[in-house]
Amino acid sequence: MPSTLDPELRRALAERVRYCHEMGFYDFYRREPRVLDVAEVESVAAEAVSPSSLLASSSILQPELREEMSARKSAVVRTIAEENVFETPKLEYAVSDSAAALKLIREDLGDCTRCKLHKGRTKIVFGVGDPHAELMFVGEGPGADEDAQGEPFVGRAGQLLNNMIKAMGLRREDVYIANVVKCRPPGNRTPEPDECDTCSPFLMRQIAAIKPKVVVALGATAAKNLLAMNSSLGELRGRFYDFKPAGARADSSWSGARLAVTYHPAYLLRDPRQKGEAWKDLQMVMKYLGIEPPKKAAE
Ligand code: SF4
Repeated sequence: MPSTLDPELRRALAERVRYCHEMGFYDFYRREPRVLDVAEVESVAAEAVSPSSLLASSSILQPELREEMSARKSAVVRTIAEENVFETPKLEYAVSDSAAALKLIREDLGDCTRCKLHKGRTKIVFGVGDPHAELMFVGEGPGADEDAQGEPFVGRAGQLLNNMIKAMGLRREDVYIANVVKCRPPGNRTPEPDECDTCSPFLMRQIAAIKPKVVVALGATAAKNLLAMNSSLGELRGRFYDFKPAGARADSSWSGARLAVTYHPAYLLRDPRQKGEAWKDLQMVMKYLGIEPPKKAAE
């Protein structure tokens, strides 16, 4: 069992647990996943349409009603057999090139109106950088500058992030940068849970397409959404987490990323005393990636 869950999977699990509670089941036991054979799928489907299916098999049922029930049963069998409970296959899964996969995700996002943040945005801020990057930074959401330019981290916080990347001995174009939500929250407020839940599946797909070695969550919103944990930033910093989006579970070409948490550059602008702590987080990442800092930064 992975130590962390991505929001997509967490939501699906929460939905399933709620359904079980409504059915009166409160105790859960772990068992290894198993592929159902056709007979088992049909049996589950028959239960799913019960008690109507019992009526459908009854000799007193009118033929047209029996036909309708039979069609419903077939539909349920198809649903169970063809759909993964937790995810629907995405177009980019069939594409091995990261740049092409990102393009498909961007096309799927379209002129998105899936959550209320679309109402106040100027531009969707999809993400920027090397589609094959080993290192990815994930922030919270676009600010005014990002909203105007359609690119993440281009304002003052972006300048500081650029300096942090430079201190690591890298260039901005060597990494990939994205946010949990792609549209600017009004007044730069923190994105609300429903907005994060609606938008973050696109981020997860971006991460699965890029297949980075390390993801750095910038700030509490990014950390909590990526890790699906509700701890404070202080508790989440200082260690790596194994991270693989649910949609990439079947991708044997990528074992997942290591995820580190550090302060958001906007917070560091407000409290520069924490820069030293952020540098420790980045040094942990550099060590893992085998990056030697430029002499000046190392001194
Ligand atoms: S924040 Fe994300 S989900 Fe919401 S409208 Fe923008 S792109 Fe769509």
